Amino acid sequence: MRLLYEGKSKRIYDVGDGRVFVEFKDDITAFNAEKKASPEGKGRITYEISRLLFEYLKSRGIPTHYLEPGEGGFYAKRVRILPVELVVRNVATGSIVKRLGVEKGREFSPPLVEYFYKDDALGDPLVCEGHITYFGWASREELERMRDIALRSTELLKELFSRAGLRLVDIKYEFGYDDEGNLLLADEISPDTCRIWDSEGRSLDKDVFRKGTGDVVKTYEEVLRRLREALSRE
Ligand code: UDP
Repeated sequence: MRLLYEGKSKRIYDVGDGRVFVEFKDDITAFNAEKKASPEGKGRITYEISRLLFEYLKSRGIPTHYLEPGEGGFYAKRVRILPVELVVRNVATGSIVKRLGVEKGREFSPPLVEYFYKDDALGDPLVCEGHITYFGWASREELERMRDIALRSTELLKELFSRAGLRLVDIKYEFGYDDEGNLLLADEISPDTCRIWDSEGRSLDKDVFRKGTGDVVKTYEEVLRRLREALSRE
């Protein structure tokens, strides 16, 4: 397999038949890669969670690039990623608290959707619909479709996490087009890309690494165990 792209936490290989292999590395970064580590087992656990969540969403009608599990990663449709990330917030924390002075812990119902321009050099800035359509990153219709998929996915995930005794606080989504022109949910879905709180408000996500408050791998393992338990009770 030919390496197509290496990111901060994943490697993407071209399988050669329209598929890619998404391999999860142990590397974890925060604060625009200023903080780095490579805890052993982190790639595997992030892969397992991402796989479980993509399979869950796919089985409930969400269009995703996910195809099938592999060794240390999954097979996915090759897509052209759009340069806009969508963040859906159920509860205020993180950048919105710093940026707008919103009270931490405030609930957003319905959820709040924000757009970020994917550009590491610029630190992925917050952008609005005007920027996105003006600069041609996505059309108004594409944005509407991404919003719809992101909100439906969040509703489904929120329900699953709640059955696992967990709270889905916020989550980041990326989208891409496959060769047939389908808009698909892509990249990964894991505690690296969302925030999860337990019933006591304890973080079970990348904030453990950002703040140095615990063991990342053990924390993510707990998330996987709880999600599996919730699904097995279905
Ligand atoms: N997020 C992400 N990748 C990014 C930026 C944010 O996956 O490049 C996730 C982050 O983990 C959180 C959500 O998006 O679940 C909202 O992040 P926020 O805007 O609060 O930024 P942060 O506090 O992470 O800087």
